[in-house]
Amino acid sequence: MTPSDARVPPSARWRDALVRPNIVGQRASDLHDMREANIALVLRLIRQHGPLARVAIARRTGLSRTTVSSIVDGLLAEGVVREGETLSAAPSGGRRPTLVHFNESAGIILGVDFGRTHFTLLATDLHAHIIARKSGPCDTDLGPDVLLQRLISEIRQLMNEHHLDWDRVVGAGMGIPGPVDAALNMLVRPPRMAGWDMVDVTGILRVALGVPVLLNNDANLGALAEGRYGEAVGASNYIYVKVGTGIGCGLVIDGKIYRGSGGVAGEFGHFTIDNDGPLCACGNRGCLEAVAGAPQIVRMALHAGFGQGEATARTPSDDEDPDEDPEVDVADVIQAALSGDLACQAAVGRAAELIGIAMAGLVNLVNPSVILLYGSVARADELLLGPIREAIHQRSLLAASRMVRVQTSALGDSAIALGAATMVLDAIFGTPVYIEDHVADDDTAEAPAVGAASGANDA
Ligand SMILES: [Zn+2]
Repeated sequence: MTPSDARVPPSARWRDALVRPNIVGQRASDLHDMREANIALVLRLIRQHGPLARVAIARRTGLSRTTVSSIVDGLLAEGVVREGETLSAAPSGGRRPTLVHFNESAGIILGVDFGRTHFTLLATDLHAHIIARKSGPCDTDLGPDVLLQRLISEIRQLMNEHHLDWDRVVGAGMGIPGPVDAALNMLVRPPRMAGWDMVDVTGILRVALGVPVLLNNDANLGALAEGRYGEAVGASNYIYVKVGTGIGCGLVIDGKIYRGSGGVAGEFGHFTIDNDGPLCACGNRGCLEAVAGAPQIVRMALHAGFGQGEATARTPSDDEDPDEDPEVDVADVIQAALSGDLACQAAVGRAAELIGIAMAGLVNLVNPSVILLYGSVARADELLLGPIREAIHQRSLLAASRMVRVQTSALGDSAIALGAATMVLDAIFGTPVYIEDHVADDDTAEAPAVGAASGANDA
């Protein structure tokens, strides 16, 4: 039914939401006049709760039928909604109203997960359904000049391979592993990414792709996606934790991603765990990621005699060569641990215990209902989750620990790129809100008050 090749004029108003300054999260306050606010309200209602008859739209928004008809006609002309199907049966035995559908094919959103060692690209429709996907290796040590050009060419390849029309691309979102200043829309002093400080990543991509580009920390975007489509649906306080080479988290507090004053919130990997511990990429000693990140897990496994059945993991000092066996990476260690290698199990278990100790503090601080783990180390699954749960239960207040569910991410490798696309969709259409309707969708019902309260609650 949906026209997959629907073409929208680039000047269509609904797309303009993305190019207004400081629009993210401020959709309503930035609108110029009541009519624009009403257009946004109607479009959001149809996108979230459609298909709806015009009369139902009028009832739910409190707008007059004439205003709704004029707005819907405008949206039809822009191609972002379509009309056609009627209700299969008229609920009150009267005439069958024509329904207004959101046209999710009216645009394409690009979502980019740009990691230190890998990338994932997604193209989605306006409902965040994935229509194309591509992933591959990446190495941020190559620097922004080389890598951003490579990323641009990968995006073009994705579009070409799937015969997607550039004119339909509305915007791009990107997740990147480091603090992103919300006001500057830039990476600020990212650890482990020399040469990337204050690089105008979004500006470079915007010029090359010809569409607005939004940037956020990768863990924040993974958290956004898990809350919208994954394991944290319905939770308003939850934490999405990356455990890989680096350790970091996206914090959602009262239903909102918490970014802090300068975008640095969630740098959980730099909690000091051992004040005399090994040097961390951030310059301090004994940070959680320096004692429990993927490279340290490999080192602990090697020192414990990986492959020789030794079972004692220890934390090596930083005067030992970190690259003593470049042939072994954390995937090998985790695979071996899952296959029963005791040295590898001990290394993963020790890292998990340290992560759990740090996380117990986070549980006391934030009182989350869900903690989701992802990243190369999270593939260890219960070998990682078990000791983390134990540490949380031992070390955080019972009132907080008894209500927290700790598990691995549901969306896996797609979470961050999907969150990046969702960030763009939220900038255009606003964050989904619950719009109340206590009555049946028929012509005779009375108009209820329009509600805009969050429907999310901790499970
Ligand atoms: Zn650190």
